[in-house]
Amino acid sequence: MSATSPHQPSVVIIGAGFGGLAAAIELERHGHTNYTVLERQTEVGGVWQANQYPGARCDVPSIIYQYSYDLRPDWSRRFGNQAEICDYLKQASERFGVRPRIRFNTSVQSAHFDEQKASWHLTLASGETIDADVMICATGQLSQPKIPDLPGRDTFAGAQFHSAEWDHSVDITAKRVAVVGSGASAVQIVPAIAQQTGHLTLVQRHPNWIVGKMDWAPSRLEKSLGRRFPIFLRGYHNVMWLYFESRYPLVLRKADPVRRVWERILKRQIAKALGDPHKTAACIPDYALGCNRILLSSEWYPTLAKPDVRVVNSGVASLDADGIVCSDGTRVDADVIVWCTGFTATEYIAPMEVVGRNGQNLRTAWADGPEAYLGLVTAGFPNMFMSYGPNTGSLTNTLIYMFEKQASWIRQVIEHLGTTGGWVDVREDVHREFNDEIQSRLQKTVFTAGCPGWYSTDSGKVTQVWTGSHVEYGRRTETLDPLIFERGGSKTPA
Ligand code: NAP
Repeated sequence: MSATSPHQPSVVIIGAGFGGLAAAIELERHGHTNYTVLERQTEVGGVWQANQYPGARCDVPSIIYQYSYDLRPDWSRRFGNQAEICDYLKQASERFGVRPRIRFNTSVQSAHFDEQKASWHLTLASGETIDADVMICATGQLSQPKIPDLPGRDTFAGAQFHSAEWDHSVDITAKRVAVVGSGASAVQIVPAIAQQTGHLTLVQRHPNWIVGKMDWAPSRLEKSLGRRFPIFLRGYHNVMWLYFESRYPLVLRKADPVRRVWERILKRQIAKALGDPHKTAACIPDYALGCNRILLSSEWYPTLAKPDVRVVNSGVASLDADGIVCSDGTRVDADVIVWCTGFTATEYIAPMEVVGRNGQNLRTAWADGPEAYLGLVTAGFPNMFMSYGPNTGSLTNTLIYMFEKQASWIRQVIEHLGTTGGWVDVREDVHREFNDEIQSRLQKTVFTAGCPGWYSTDSGKVTQVWTGSHVEYGRRTETLDPLIFERGGSKTPA
């Protein structure tokens, strides 16, 4: 902790994925050791630990999908796979001394803020309770798998599971497999299993925009340069980061003409790759490019083009013992159903119950969609911080940068609390002004062009995506302005 903050507020970090570990490492690197990380799984990694489906791999180049202060030269390919990413995070947790402070198999059920004590009172699934001055929620946005509640789902006689809960005991060899959904998970799973299955049917409502993935194994020279010359790795990282950052203006509505040209090119490529006019028609998205996540795969269309792969463009209406009945009446008989239907992403922090000042429940506060100031703090919930909170999703660059900036800002507030004691709560007017600005600026981006997906709530409010450039986010989180806070609590620093 810095010399100006002799007291170390106690901190509890919920989640040991990229975001939670970024927060813990930030504290360690600044000498703050009064923290505990609570992780419900048995290992670090968060979504990367949970998603062990065939083909699971990063869709951001690994050189920028790692901590900027812990660059690793030896990824097996340009886009690292799930096991490597988990291994990287495990090593990072050891290297920075965080691991001894992680409690695994520990699920938080509820958190209540005590204004008098200026601390959070957490109840774990085991019934144990923990008090902490500061709570950092790094529970991710993609941690609660979502399977649609459809009539007859329990009557299906075969095996069924969600992509994030892959059942490796189920042998899919030569089986009739139905994959529901065509988001980022399905785009990796379908090509990875199509060779093994007897017949595969993709059931999709909205096809997505998918571009080729420029993936290759790094050369021995590249790896050797990276190992021997950290400056090479740093330069490569910075160049790639700037390259991604330079694409930001493409999400602005002003860039509509550019995106339309790109859409035409992609449509031609889809038709060429699929050949079959029926499949081509089924795979052309009906929403603006970039409005939803642009997916990466060089194997998707060649896989769908195979004669033993069927594409059904319809939602699922119901299930029976033999398989799926689609909304358009199509039947899909199957032995195995893989639900690639995403996550309850807009229900941040759920199912944990969070109660802030004056008994206010976070669910009620967010009834019209989650909101926060810079995705970090929500008015009415003092000393509670978020990693990957509302409107901080990174579509144009890397989420890891956001995590690092968030960790740094939160650490500054904790240091501030170390000198003042008590609690801080972002002012209502600051919170309101920020969210009005974000929603207004989103109207000038492609993210509000009415695409399907999980970036917005059912009412259409975009609550997931950061609207500006990453440079802007970095600038706005660089230095803490304590005037944004209302403060209270009787606690005095030790
Ligand atoms: P997703 O993008 O939310 O996709 C869910 C899919 O399920 C959509 O195609 C959706 O269709 C479909 N669906 C939902 N309910 C349905 C129903 N009743 N009938 C038919 N289809 C239905 O989920 P995801 O693929 O798991 O990806 C979620 C996020 O995880 C991604 O956006 C990405 O951020 C992350 N991810 C990252 C990686 C990586 O490599 N870094 C890999 C995988 C996932 P509609 O579009 O019509 O709603």
